[in-house]
Amino acid sequence: MSTIKTFKVIFLDRDGVINKKAPEGDYIKNWEEFHFLEKVPEAIHIFNDLGFKIVVVSNQRGIAKRLMTMSDVNYIHEQINKQISAYKAHIDAFFVCPHEKGTCHCRKPEIGLFLQAAKLFPVDKLHSFMMGDSITDIEAGHKFGIKSVAIGNFLKKADFYFPDLYQAAKYIMNSGSSYGNH
Ligand SMILES: [Mg+2]
Ligand SMILES: [Zn+2]
Repeated sequence: MSTIKTFKVIFLDRDGVINKKAPEGDYIKNWEEFHFLEKVPEAIHIFNDLGFKIVVVSNQRGIAKRLMTMSDVNYIHEQINKQISAYKAHIDAFFVCPHEKGTCHCRKPEIGLFLQAAKLFPVDKLHSFMMGDSITDIEAGHKFGIKSVAIGNFLKKADFYFPDLYQAAKYIMNSGSSYGNH
């Protein structure tokens, strides 16, 4: 008999959760346009400490629109990990949908990015969360079968709401054995 090791995973939306969103209709196209939201590295450090895998799942339609390339986006993600390493924090993996709306199975609220991630980290769904600032994040988390957390934007369908990622991290840390330590 064999058992598959599973991981508790925090799936994070990027824009509006980790960094300031671009203005409506625009995209974060380069590192100069990327600005961390307050206490995000500290929040990620808490999740790391609690034993969660941290996986970013991000729609980046600006790639389909040729406003930026996948390698521009990859570079931004390398820089994120470089910056947060000063806080002893790290993101374990990034999964990006580069496609136009309605042309793929990975653009949230579809769950293709989650399924890609699950190949790397088989997901312990009972102890995992999706955190995002859009209704499509909340829907994707639920479709995948995990709890969904609204960050910075009150969304009725979400299981929890926190004004920022740090508040979410502190809540999960303080909830002890129910989510944090197992
Ligand atoms: Mg967002
Ligand atoms: Zn896609």
